[in-house]
Amino acid sequence: MTAMDTNDMLTATQLVIEEALQKLGYGQDMIDLLKEPMRLLTVRIPIRMDDGTTRVFIGYRSQHNDAVGPTKGGVRFHPDVNEIEVKALSIWMSIKCGIANLPYGGGKGGIICDPRKMSFRELERLSRGYVRAISQIVGPTKDIPAPDVMTNSQIMAWMMDEYSRIREFDSPGFITGKPLVLGGSLGRESATARGVAIMIDEALRKKGIPLSNARVVIQGFGNAGSYLAQFMYEAGAKVIGISDVNAALYNENGLDIEDLMDRRDSFGTVTNLFKDTISNEELLSLDCDILVPAAIENQITADNADNIRAKIIVEAANGPTTLEATRIVTDRGILLVPDVLASAGGVIVSYFEWVQNNQGYYWSEAEVDMKLREMMVRGFNQVYELHQSRKVNMRLAAYMVGVRKMAEAVRFRGWV
Ligand code: NAD
Repeated sequence: MTAMDTNDMLTATQLVIEEALQKLGYGQDMIDLLKEPMRLLTVRIPIRMDDGTTRVFIGYRSQHNDAVGPTKGGVRFHPDVNEIEVKALSIWMSIKCGIANLPYGGGKGGIICDPRKMSFRELERLSRGYVRAISQIVGPTKDIPAPDVMTNSQIMAWMMDEYSRIREFDSPGFITGKPLVLGGSLGRESATARGVAIMIDEALRKKGIPLSNARVVIQGFGNAGSYLAQFMYEAGAKVIGISDVNAALYNENGLDIEDLMDRRDSFGTVTNLFKDTISNEELLSLDCDILVPAAIENQITADNADNIRAKIIVEAANGPTTLEATRIVTDRGILLVPDVLASAGGVIVSYFEWVQNNQGYYWSEAEVDMKLREMMVRGFNQVYELHQSRKVNMRLAAYMVGVRKMAEAVRFRGWV
């Protein structure tokens, strides 16, 4: 992601928050408070590398607002991590938590590093070093991290272990996305895709289209995209297009998703195994019922929004549609289920993991799925009803629902 993109991401989020708060009747004081994170910590983490040298890594933790409860959000390890991106992502997490009605505000963290070029032990030292550096402002009742881009359950396990050592008691509720044996939740890995599938069900119902035989196009075949393709395939829908960073595959009769799942690599790439491909741009303009951007940001823009032929867009990726494109597709009668609603499955099951850790009592996968559906459907209905009653687009409606509880909590606490 370029610096320009991240600036746009923060500005776009702030614009929608401002409009949402204005529509809800709040004044400039509330806007000034909620447009920016309340706290941003920058840390320097010296790490002894395997060759004996020391490298100093820069890390961040951003906490948007804790009026509702502790903050919550992932930690990403990536060379492009920067202050603006971490801030924007922490604000998005607040909106997601607000829509799902979780007792959290939003948080996000990151370290500027390239895990692909680091050894297992270097990654362990970096993960532990990060926790030591931010330990004063995080904790099971303060701010609860989780996995994000290029972090996984092993990294969560090291972080949980380091935090438990510092506090001198076992603290599984400090972090979510842990391995099952350390208190992870069943259903966590596929939770985002499961949530997107639930949103597809609801959107199809509004459009009066049955799921069986619905034609689905998915951009991105990683964690979110591939599990979603599998769920759609199992439900009898026709996945007619998928893509990865290199190219896209299209078959109007439906792709063999089981075969693609078997053959994709751990980075979600599979199209390099095929000769007959189309481009990602062509994929986005395929005639279909549901289009799911599940790859990266800024894919549907003012330049290609007129070419979209889907009836429904469900955003699994963060920020795939620009504000201008949101207006265009909404005016064209396409039902758009925005990222802050559609991709909330991950944080909802993270919340379930934290609840199970706090209780020391673990749920079955069926129970996790049932509760996830209940929360996602409630969020969808609230956003859809507001979209209709206030005649605002689905993104603005989602922000209005998402920021409302936080603003009320700020008011009751007497902060503004
Ligand atoms: P991933 O890294 O597992 O997969 C990304 C996929 O997108 C891969 O198939 C990759 O080849 C493809 N891709 C990368 N660049 C592309 C490009 N320029 N054009 C087309 N395809 C491209 O990532 P993921 O975890 O599946 O996340 C995908 C999106 O969903 C991201 O925006 C992420 O923030 C969002 N998201 C994911 C989760 C989750 O739990 N995984 C939760 C919330 C939001």
